[in-house]
Amino acid sequence: MEVARTIAETRRALEPRRSGGVGLVPTMGALHDGHLSLLSAARAENDTVVMSLFVNPAQFNERGDLASYPRDERRDLRLAEEAGVDLVFAPSAEEMYPPGFQTWVDVVELGSILEGAFRPGHFRGVATVCLKLFEIVRPDRAYFGQKDAQQVEVIRRLIADLALEVELRVCPTVRDADGLALSSRNARLSPEERERALALPRALATRDRESALRLLAESEGVEVDYVEVADFQPPVLAGAVRVGGTRLIDNVVLDER
Ligand code: AMP
Repeated sequence: MEVARTIAETRRALEPRRSGGVGLVPTMGALHDGHLSLLSAARAENDTVVMSLFVNPAQFNERGDLASYPRDERRDLRLAEEAGVDLVFAPSAEEMYPPGFQTWVDVVELGSILEGAFRPGHFRGVATVCLKLFEIVRPDRAYFGQKDAQQVEVIRRLIADLALEVELRVCPTVRDADGLALSSRNARLSPEERERALALPRALATRDRESALRLLAESEGVEVDYVEVADFQPPVLAGAVRVGGTRLIDNVVLDER
């Protein structure tokens, strides 16, 4: 497995590997089984698998969240290698956002609802970094998790609107045995908070907004940002809550409507 720190190195490494298909899995590291499921899907469908490992400052709307985001590059590289990744692109913030950087891509409407309403600028950061990653790696396929349903929808719109030549592949949400969706931010939960956080998947599992809100209202130590039906592809019941200092999102697919 190669590790590239610069855009130039990445392009150079990929030049001879274009013919058999290139799959890109964008990540912010702190890898868990959710990430590994994306890597495994990419491994099955492409001759070359690229994983980006970049904690994108532009998509954090809170300094504290960025500062405390879990980072363990050594572990991530080991897991990526075990998953059969060919190339990891792990740039510095300066490589991605050089001095004077001022070009942004904004998926205006989709980027401003739900998560976007609570995290201003978040999806602008996501869309911009993904477009840049697509341009650097030029993948045939890019892999995203259904866990971040609105992110998938933003990327789908970005690809359609800008006629990008990349196929969007979406993998199902991976959950712990107790139902909690895997997330790098789960590491911040104390055992007690983690127990409280289970209220979110349990509420969403009702697949009914009112019932979900009722269950969450009864849950101690869980503050609701929103629970909404979102008309995505496929439609989902999506929710965001705060447990202690940790913000968690989740969704369930509403396919039987
Ligand atoms: P992140 O490192 O959090 O930016 O996530 C990188 C990719 O992994 C995104 O496409 C996420 O949607 C996806 N992902 C994160 N958690 C999960 C999960 N529990 N199941 C499936 N995919 C996930």
